[in-house]
Amino acid sequence: MRFPGYALELGSLAAWACLVALSLWHNLGLLDAQAREVAAARARMLFSVVETTRLWNARHGGLYAPVTAESPPNEWLIDPLRDVDIDGRSFTKINPAYMTRQMSELMDKRGGMSFRLTSLKPVRPGNLPDPWEAKALTLFENGGTELLERVTDDTGGDHYRYMARLLVEEACLQCHANQNYQVGEVRGGISVTFDAAQVLAEINPQKQQTIVLHGVGYVLLAGATLAFLTWLRAGWRQLAQAKAEQEAMVAERTQELRQAVDDLARSNTELENFAYAVSHDLQEPLRMIGSYAQLIDRRYADHLDADGREFLGFMTDGAQRMKQMIDDLLAYSRAGRTEIHPQPVALERVLESALANLTAALQESGGQVLRDGTLPVVAGEVSMLVRVLQNLVGNALKYRHPERQAQVVVSARPHVQGWEIRVADNGIGVPEAARERIFQVFQRLHSNAKISGTGIGLSIAKKIVERHGGRIWVEDNRPQGSVFCFTLPTVPAGTDVPASQQQSGAN
Ligand code: ADP
Repeated sequence: MRFPGYALELGSLAAWACLVALSLWHNLGLLDAQAREVAAARARMLFSVVETTRLWNARHGGLYAPVTAESPPNEWLIDPLRDVDIDGRSFTKINPAYMTRQMSELMDKRGGMSFRLTSLKPVRPGNLPDPWEAKALTLFENGGTELLERVTDDTGGDHYRYMARLLVEEACLQCHANQNYQVGEVRGGISVTFDAAQVLAEINPQKQQTIVLHGVGYVLLAGATLAFLTWLRAGWRQLAQAKAEQEAMVAERTQELRQAVDDLARSNTELENFAYAVSHDLQEPLRMIGSYAQLIDRRYADHLDADGREFLGFMTDGAQRMKQMIDDLLAYSRAGRTEIHPQPVALERVLESALANLTAALQESGGQVLRDGTLPVVAGEVSMLVRVLQNLVGNALKYRHPERQAQVVVSARPHVQGWEIRVADNGIGVPEAARERIFQVFQRLHSNAKISGTGIGLSIAKKIVERHGGRIWVEDNRPQGSVFCFTLPTVPAGTDVPASQQQSGAN
C-alpha cells in the first residue's frame, strides 16, 4: 500500500494555478471592457455637447463675432453677409464648422482631450480625415453609427479614439441647400481623442487589486491543499504502519501456532510410540495370564467351589477384554504409522469386504445393510477403508435400538473435498453433547456391562480418514438414530482405475 508520489501535490498546485489564471484573465477582461465603456461614455458626452452647440449655431444661421486675430473672417464661408460693420466695428459670421474648429483648437491647447470635425469630401482641406478617421467615415457610409478604439500613435502615445457620424439637420439646409444636402444623410463626423491614461487611471487600481486578490487566493488555496494532502499522507502512513504491524503480529502468531502444532504432533507421535511399545510388550504377559487361567480351568475346575469358578471366569473374561484393548490400541498406533499409498478404490468392494468381516454380527443382530445409490471410486488405502466402514457399520449394528430391527443405509454424495460417505442407522443415537467426544480414544457412552467395547473404534476411523485428507463427524438421523459421515478424496483425473476397482452399479 503506497501513497502516490508528490505528483499529487504538484498536480494540485498546477490545477489551482490554471484555475486562478483563468479567473484572473476573465476578470481583467471585464475591467478592460469596463474601461472601454468609461471611454465611450466620455467621448459620447463630448460629442453630444459639440453636436448640440453646432445645432444651436445652425438654427441661428450662424453667429457674429468681432473680428480678432483668433477669429479672422472664415475664408471658406461663401456668404454675402459674412462680414458686417456695426457702429464702426467689424463683425464676421461664425458658422457651425468655423465654431467647431475654433472650439477644437481651444481644447487642443488645453491638452488631454481633443476633437475635430472631418469629412470624406470637406470644403476646407484642413478637414480631411486621417487614416483612422477615414476608416470610421467609410464605416458610417456602410451604415455604422460610431467607432471606438484604443490606438497607439506613431510617437507611442496610447489613446482612445472615438468617432460618431454627423447627420444633416433641417437647420443645415439654410446654408448648404445649394450643395444638394439632404436631411438625414451623413456628411462627416466628429472624432474625439483622449489619453488612455485618463481612463486607465480609474481602472488600473482595480486591476492591481484583482491581481493581488488572485495572488492571495492562489497562495491560500495552494496552502490549504498542501496542508490537506500532508494530513492525508500522515493518515495514510499511519494506516500503512498499522497494517505492517498487524501483518507482523499475524506472522508471529502463525509462527507460534505452527510451533505449537509441531510440538503437539511430536508429543502425539511420542505418545503413540509409547502406547505401541507398551501394548506390544503387554501382549506376552497377558497371553501367559490367559493361558494359565485356561489351564487352571481345565485341570482344577473340579477342585474349585462355585465362587472359585466364578472368579476364574472373571479372570479369563478380564484377560480377553484386555487382549481386545491391546489389539485395538495396536491397530490405532498402526493407523497412525503405516504409510498410505492412495490407489483408486471402489467403495462397493470395500463395503463388501467390511460386510464379510461382519457376518457374525449381522447374523447375531438380525440387522440389514442397504446401499442408497452406487458407491464411488475414491483415492485411498483399501485395508484401511475396510476398517473404517467395518467400524461404522459394526457400531450401527451394535448400538441398535432394542425395539427395532437394525437398518443401516450406506450412501455417497459429492462434497467440496471429494466425496462424502454417509452411514445412517436407526439405532439409539448419539446425544449432541457427546458428538465430538466419541472420536477420542477410550471415550464410551455406555458401560461395558451393557454393551461391550473398548472405545477405540471411532478413534481409529478418525485417524484413517484424516490421514486420507478427509474429515469425520456424526449427525442426527431424524427421526431415529445417527448418521456417521466422512469425506474422502476423488481419484485424480487421468488415473487408470484397475478393473477390480471399477464401480459395479450394484444397489
Ligand atoms: P466402542 O464401540 O468400542 O465403545 P467406538 O469408538 O467405536 O468404541 O465408539 C465410541 C462410543 O460412541 C461408543 O461407546 C458409543 O457410545 C458411541 N457410538 C458409536 N457408534 C454409535 C452408533 N452408531 N450409535 C450410537 N452410539 C454410537
